[in-house]
Amino acid sequence: MEIFLGLVIILALAAALFLRRTGRAEQAQTGVPIDARVVYSDTGAWQRVEKPLFSRRYRLTGKPDYIVQDETDAMIPIEVKPNRTAPQPRHSDTLQLMAYGILVEEKFGARLEYGLLKYRDQVFEITFTEELRAELFKVLEEMRAARHADNVPRSHDDPLKCKYCGYREECEERLA
Ligand code: SF4
Repeated sequence: MEIFLGLVIILALAAALFLRRTGRAEQAQTGVPIDARVVYSDTGAWQRVEKPLFSRRYRLTGKPDYIVQDETDAMIPIEVKPNRTAPQPRHSDTLQLMAYGILVEEKFGARLEYGLLKYRDQVFEITFTEELRAELFKVLEEMRAARHADNVPRSHDDPLKCKYCGYREECEERLA
């Protein structure tokens, strides 16, 4: 009986070690800093899918892929674009991350300094400057105003965006 119990304990320890190592390997693949604690996850790798964050004040909702806390307990939203490669972050991705930053601030009541944007081969640190915040609020205002407009002109010159857009069949301004 003692031998059996010893075997069970050894197996349990081995399983715990394996799970810990697997978790760290997954964390490394996403580009999430290893010493950061993942507190929120929207990917299969981390299993639990949380509800979208919502800000009544800004009438904004969305789900970052992760929220982690660094060693100073600061919250860091992370957006992962696993298929994207670019020498610099796309501006639309930067604004999306800023929006998540605002949502995390609203939820946890603390001002955020920056977020991380993970492309296939790189991780960009995006500082949440006053200019970026102001630009996001301006874009949100414009979007709200556009909702009541009969027609809204295309706001970009990116054929790729149109190629994967769900409205491309009906859109007269599509580029691809
Ligand atoms: S197809 Fe039209 S709505 Fe879609 S991204 Fe292109 S311009 Fe915008």
